[in-house]
Amino acid sequence: MRVAFIAAEAFPLAKVGGLADVVGSLPLALTKLGLEAEIYLPWYQGIEAKHIGDIEYLFAGQPEAGALGEAWHRGVRVVLLGHPDFQRERLYGYPDDVARFMRFSCMAYQAASGAGILHAHDWHAGLVPVLAHAAGGRQKTVFTIHNLAYQGRWNPGEFLAWSGLPAHYLQLEGLEYRGDASLMKGGIVYAHRVTTVSPSYAREILTPEFGEGLEGLLQKHQHKLRGILNGIDTSYWDPSTDPHLPSRYSANDLSGKTACRAALRTETGFNQEGVVLGVVSRLVEQKGMDQVLEILPPLLRLGCKLVVLGSGEPALEDSFRLAGEKYQGQVFFRSGHNEALAHRIYAGADALLIPPAFEPCGLTQMIAMRYGTPPIARAVGGLKDTIRDGVTGVLYSGGQSANLLAAIERFLRLDQQAMRLAGMRENFSWEYPALEYAAVYGELSTSRVGLTEEPNSPGQRE
Ligand code: ADP
Repeated sequence: MRVAFIAAEAFPLAKVGGLADVVGSLPLALTKLGLEAEIYLPWYQGIEAKHIGDIEYLFAGQPEAGALGEAWHRGVRVVLLGHPDFQRERLYGYPDDVARFMRFSCMAYQAASGAGILHAHDWHAGLVPVLAHAAGGRQKTVFTIHNLAYQGRWNPGEFLAWSGLPAHYLQLEGLEYRGDASLMKGGIVYAHRVTTVSPSYAREILTPEFGEGLEGLLQKHQHKLRGILNGIDTSYWDPSTDPHLPSRYSANDLSGKTACRAALRTETGFNQEGVVLGVVSRLVEQKGMDQVLEILPPLLRLGCKLVVLGSGEPALEDSFRLAGEKYQGQVFFRSGHNEALAHRIYAGADALLIPPAFEPCGLTQMIAMRYGTPPIARAVGGLKDTIRDGVTGVLYSGGQSANLLAAIERFLRLDQQAMRLAGMRENFSWEYPALEYAAVYGELSTSRVGLTEEPNSPGQRE
């Protein structure tokens, strides 16, 4: 069975966050189970790939042609879809993002027409299950929600023009959402199966607190929704082989970790005293970083130091930059995406702070535990599913900065060495999650009718 992963990110070719890690590593785990998996990705600026031909597809009712590229990552084929609109400095954050990714979805749908399963990820690929449905629903589709907060909404007129879909797809039963077309909703309604990235998040998104306005829709489609915990690529994230670290180590011999801690302190201008708390994160509201800023003075009074690597909202970057200047020797901030420094923080910090408003799965806590760095995290979503409170890290409830501070104080009283070792012994590999995905694909390939309820079939609904 051939599975086509269709997504806006895939490590190492294009990465902003965890979506890239998942798309870059799950296909490899699936191939180990005997499935054939390949990745479809926009051919962004700077991606080196072999030009293997051209692809013709329809967009906005017009035939268009785009370049088709091919790259290989650890034995997995990546198909690159080329259009001038993908050739920009960043992956996202442009006013025409919805048009860019609708075009990408049209291209990928065409290019992956021979695959048995189309596995679309997040709103960027939400149009894919809709196109498959409009073509008769023969090709089975899986849609994975990595983050419900980003929905890909656009005005209905241009959506219909660009997609070429009949107007009935814009009914409330279809993509219509508060007067817009929602690509996230399209994926949820029309995919044969919907997955999200942890069992807890799968439950949370059925509630108004985490459902981002789609909780009613998700309740309706609950029969096809499943939470499958993300794994991490444990051969890439491995402190015993990691080329980015000044010293390597394992749970059997932590002396290399001690060297990594000392090196991080030297690199950040810290002395060797006290506990170093690390942050590796996108700097957006979701991640709760304003709370870290709020508790800085008491944190420093406790003797802690803080190293932050992140990029995102300019106001948050500015605040961390100012804090780094004000508390030199105690707070260190580096903006931008920096793969090597991220590895050095996972290895060299004493704990990782993760205080988000919500977290669908979260990978940084798993990486940190694998590197013997206990996470201190709010008990939401996948954080709750991966951290054992008081054993491999600290989990806390409540969304106030005081809750975070209390959790840090609790961490300081716990046996940190025992937590380090317990975290390193957890298995966060894709081995088991890949089996769950394979089971989802297997159900679809044997079932004759994947959608237990046909959405949007005119005449069947009141
Ligand atoms: P999200 O997908 O919401 O950003 P995750 O915890 O699922 O959060 O995944 C974050 C991924 O991005 C991890 O692999 C983490 O190491 C990486 N990451 C986040 N910020 C940076 C950064 N500034 N530099 C390098 N890697 C980063």
